[in-house]
Amino acid sequence: MRCSRCLNTDEKFFYRGSNGWYCRKCVKFQGEDELDQQTNEVDPEYYLNFSLTNKQAEISHQLTKHVREGQSVLLEAVCGAGKTEIIFEMIADNLRNGKKVGISIARRQVVLEIAERLQAAFKNLKVVAVCQGHTKDVNGDLIVCTTHQLYRYRQYFDTLVIDEPDAFPFKGNSTLQGIAKNSCRGAFVYLTATPDDELKNNKSLKKLYLSKRPHGHDLCVPDVLIGPKLFLIFKGALWLMEELKQHKKVLLFVPNKKTGRNLYQLMKIFINCCHIDSESEDRDRVIKDFKNDKYDLCISTSVLERGITISNVQVLVWLADSGVFDEAALTQIAGRVGRNKNYPDGECLFLCNSRQRSVEHCIESIVRANND
Ligand SMILES: [Zn+2]
Repeated sequence: MRCSRCLNTDEKFFYRGSNGWYCRKCVKFQGEDELDQQTNEVDPEYYLNFSLTNKQAEISHQLTKHVREGQSVLLEAVCGAGKTEIIFEMIADNLRNGKKVGISIARRQVVLEIAERLQAAFKNLKVVAVCQGHTKDVNGDLIVCTTHQLYRYRQYFDTLVIDEPDAFPFKGNSTLQGIAKNSCRGAFVYLTATPDDELKNNKSLKKLYLSKRPHGHDLCVPDVLIGPKLFLIFKGALWLMEELKQHKKVLLFVPNKKTGRNLYQLMKIFINCCHIDSESEDRDRVIKDFKNDKYDLCISTSVLERGITISNVQVLVWLADSGVFDEAALTQIAGRVGRNKNYPDGECLFLCNSRQRSVEHCIESIVRANND
């Protein structure tokens, strides 16, 4: 027996209800909508207000070719390498051939941001973002959704892009992965800066690698300070003051909500700051305001570790060794720095109580990409 929604085959999850068998694993993913099954004539032309670097263009071309041949691909691109723009040609190629393309991302915040960027580029398409709070309209020429929403699109896509497959909650979640597998009848494209071993060792995937950002500057290698908490508070405060004095924005990552809220209560007395965690109701507005320079400091849990681009931001991590941040998370966090071509450099400081392998591996992987 196999669940038709999440592809689960583990018998212990199957139960017999009054309407027949059901799968307990994916029971909360219910109520598929009417989907637009026909392929509409669309104009897949897109506009970029910059041109791809030679390396980006080459990878974009290879990606398009592999996908056209029905090949699934792992595209590994360092943080800020412009992986979203690299997939544009592949998307256009699919649409020209009457194929349905979906882009799915674990995190809601990133869905909204990427949908906006895609709509700006593909002006003549209807791009829909489908995620919590945005589920009224699930039909469009190009669908951007959270991995949670893929259950609505059973066997629907010809090509499915999974952005950040190594991110929570998609990583290691067999239900979400089964639903994703079930939503696409053709090629998968995995995009990430930090692929896990499972993806790296998957022989059925074509591998593409982009180690340079379009502006050609090196990735920011974080500074690491190790010591007792009082020492870290003192050093962290000095560092923060120095950055703010130079009118630079700072993103401060904390390992949990409680620390974030306490720090916010304290710091808002002295600093023009905002605060975000997974329960913040006005998250979208706060992020927008922070991007628009309304705040000097943003205190965040790991909800902002990926996918967010904030121009000219510096990064501070409180207790980077806490275990909440694994190597991939730390690499992503450091990758927030220097993404804009006008501000290609910046600073990142990890404050740690003790030496930690995740921190060391993160630094090593960044240095390796810079030397590539
Ligand atoms: Zn199921």
